Amino acid sequence: MRAVVAGGAGFIGSHLCEFLLGESFKVVCLDNLLTGRKHNISRLLNNRAFTFTRADVSRSVTVPGRVDVVFNLASPASPRDYQQYPLQTLETGATGTRNLLELCLKKRAVFLLASTSEVYGDPDVHPQKESYWGSVNPVGPRSMYDEAKRYAEALTMAYRRTKGVPTRIARIFNTYGPRMKVDDGRIVPNLIDQCLRHKPLTVYGSGRQTRSFCYVSDMVEGLFRLSGCSDPNPVNLGNPDEFTVLELARLVKRMTDSDSRLTYHPLPEDDPRRRRPSIARARRLLGWSPRVGLESGLRETIDWFRSRHRRGK
Ligand code: NAD
Ligand code: UDP
Repeated sequence: MRAVVAGGAGFIGSHLCEFLLGESFKVVCLDNLLTGRKHNISRLLNNRAFTFTRADVSRSVTVPGRVDVVFNLASPASPRDYQQYPLQTLETGATGTRNLLELCLKKRAVFLLASTSEVYGDPDVHPQKESYWGSVNPVGPRSMYDEAKRYAEALTMAYRRTKGVPTRIARIFNTYGPRMKVDDGRIVPNLIDQCLRHKPLTVYGSGRQTRSFCYVSDMVEGLFRLSGCSDPNPVNLGNPDEFTVLELARLVKRMTDSDSRLTYHPLPEDDPRRRRPSIARARRLLGWSPRVGLESGLRETIDWFRSRHRRGK
């Protein structure tokens, strides 16, 4: 089997490439390195089953030879990144997704879209089920990402309905682990970096907003299982254990034995107040549920950040 992973040099994408190689896939990684790093895949570069091509999928996509499955993970993902690159985020979600769907049409390959819990916006329904249509501000500061993903979902369904492309849509909830960028602005790398440097912890708003954090190995396993499932509907992938930002900050502080104190900063506009996936559909269709609890996943992630700190990175 031969897989294309668009966005394969990013955080989740690089773990997915590794996982697929472990499943005896040949892997073609396409990435323009906008928010990803070649370092993330450096260990794979001398594996003969792995190819890296630097390419912007929103321009054109050419992959010679057989392709069985395309994982579309290409897109900035952290609020800081997508707000820094709004036009690239929209282009990648729209034209990038279309180019990859065309590749699947030509190669008779399966297409999997990495969508997001952000399609639910600041949700009125809790926990979020796939049947909920969401509460998204179409012109707000997160709109370039939320609407790009919503459009990508619609495009994916249109290719399925009108051209028969076998498609899957994963709605990914907050995922963390080694290889997150220390400066990508998301809560987990921020807190760990601040704790390791004994700097003040930045809590936005009251810290009572919630998220549900999924460790990356669980996510990659879920994406792989979903690629083999022919159900047409979107599937939530995430860990349903829900925490407030304050609980997370206190946990990271304790686990790193840090002197950092909590400081409070304005809540970003349109920041969702709560988020937690219903994973009943993933359990039923994929026999999947997360196995790594927050403390175990954080331990791995903290160790990884610590080793980077020691090496001065
Ligand atoms: P990331 O920024 O680490 O990875 C995204 C990768 O896509 C990067 O390597 C980037 O260089 C690449 N990319 C961006 N635009 C591209 C383009 N036009 N052509 C080729 N490559 C391009 O982010 P991540 O956290 O690994 O997220 C991966 C995917 O999962 C994204 O699509 C994201 O929307 C989705 N997702 C992630 C999370 C999460 O919590 N990490 C949550 C929901 C959805
Ligand atoms: N957050 C925070 N301090 C930080 C970074 C984020 O309090 O240094 C909050 C943010 O306001 C949000 C939650 O943590 O409520 C998760 O933010 P993140 O950027 O990781 O992802 P999001 O789920 O918002 O896309």
